[in-house]
Amino acid sequence: MSEAPVRPERSRGKRSRGVRLWDDAALACPYCGEPADLQVEASGPSSEEYVEDCPVCCRPWTVRVSRSDEGASVSLDRSDG
Ligand SMILES: [Zn+2]
Repeated sequence: MSEAPVRPERSRGKRSRGVRLWDDAALACPYCGEPADLQVEASGPSSEEYVEDCPVCCRPWTVRVSRSDEGASVSLDRSDG
């Protein structure tokens, strides 16, 4: 099953909706190096992995999210092997 994530229109400075925005500086595209502006749900399964395309270079990231009592962490890897 493949499903393209729906990208809601973004307006800068609006951060409510129950979605936590991660520190943009912490993540960068492993291909082109552009900062990755990822939106990840603050609650969900303890670990999760999905593929999302870089909005800049359109190459696929493997996004890994792990969540614990202390919060969640996100890592980005190339998904082309
Ligand atoms: Zn990129």
